[in-house]
Amino acid sequence: MKRVLLKLSGEALAGEKHTGFDEATCLQVAEQVKQVCDSGVQVAIVIGGGNFWRGRTSNNIDRTKSDQIGMLATVMNCIYVSEIFRSVGMKTKVFTPFTMGPMAEMFTKDAAVECLEKGVVTFFAGGTGHPYFSTDTTTTLRAVEIEADVILLAKAVDGVYDSDPKVNPEAKKYDEIPIQQVIDQKLGVMDLTASIMCMENKMPMMVFGLNEENSIVNTLKGKFSGTK
Ligand code: UDP
Repeated sequence: MKRVLLKLSGEALAGEKHTGFDEATCLQVAEQVKQVCDSGVQVAIVIGGGNFWRGRTSNNIDRTKSDQIGMLATVMNCIYVSEIFRSVGMKTKVFTPFTMGPMAEMFTKDAAVECLEKGVVTFFAGGTGHPYFSTDTTTTLRAVEIEADVILLAKAVDGVYDSDPKVNPEAKKYDEIPIQQVIDQKLGVMDLTASIMCMENKMPMMVFGLNEENSIVNTLKGKFSGTK
């Protein structure tokens, strides 16, 4: 694989704390991404915002404003993780779909691809820039735009199951599943908008557990144990 888009959930950055950042967890991700980059793979990253805020966190405020807070949470996450990546020796760039002054650069396909081709880890912060969307949608949209070979979906669970493994101990994990089945059975891998976009654009996806040891590196080195 030449170019991948890695999606990290916001909560994954928080580790056991479930909120804010857990530096040890982020450093571990950084070391893995560095190995992947050093092997010549171009890495783009989308990060969720759930460790700080989600649009549905409050029922009392306007949804558009609430989603804007969520998008800003993803910007904080990307700036933080980008700096952690730099601390282990990677070059990084944070793009947003709206102006952020000196904090990030405005996203364009050309600028993002130029960075990727130079081996710069490229973060897509701020979601799509629009309310009522998610970072799942951002992941699919940007993966398609930058012509990524695959989406790497690093989750709290280690693949796609036929029911929630936290609730049903008998839940069965799929090794492979067509995205149409994910949609039909509402398996909740990604939200519906993002799943349909993946299907329409034939964007492959590999789902695995971020907490499994060395899972990002293993996924790209053929030792994949999640769902594709
Ligand atoms: N968000 C948005 N538009 C986007 C991407 C994200 O409004 O294009 C907001 C939305 O409020 C979301 C929050 O940012 O809840 C955090 O994103 P994430 O995808 O982590 O949220 P989740 O899918 O967990 O709700």
